[in-house]
Amino acid sequence: MPSKPPRPCRAPACGNKTTASHGYCEEHEHLHKPWATRKGSGRGGRPWRRKRDAVMRRDKGLCQPCLKNNRVTPAAQVDHIIPKAEGGTDADSNLQAICKACHDVKTQTEAKRAQQG
Ligand SMILES: [Zn+2]
Ligand SMILES: [Zn+2]
Repeated sequence: MPSKPPRPCRAPACGNKTTASHGYCEEHEHLHKPWATRKGSGRGGRPWRRKRDAVMRRDKGLCQPCLKNNRVTPAAQVDHIIPKAEGGTDADSNLQAICKACHDVKTQTEAKRAQQG
């Protein structure tokens, strides 16, 4: 198989090159995901934003992993408890409010798990 020549990443002001078919470098791969760029007009389905707000209300806007460790931290976002990459769903029961610090730790752990397979 002939290897494709690297192209410059499609992200503005990024100097990296990529051979990926979506045209983004590894760093900017997330910009490609259609559901991340399309703005909230899911047909029939509840938009993520509303689901996120509901989870935030349920969890009282507090970081759930922190609460388990007896810390009270305002949550910055809503997170998949079981990541979608590992078969998690968008069900409310798989969503939790989380602070940025916990989310960063979780993301790193998940990335490590993914690498190890
Ligand atoms: Zn890039
Ligand atoms: Zn936290």
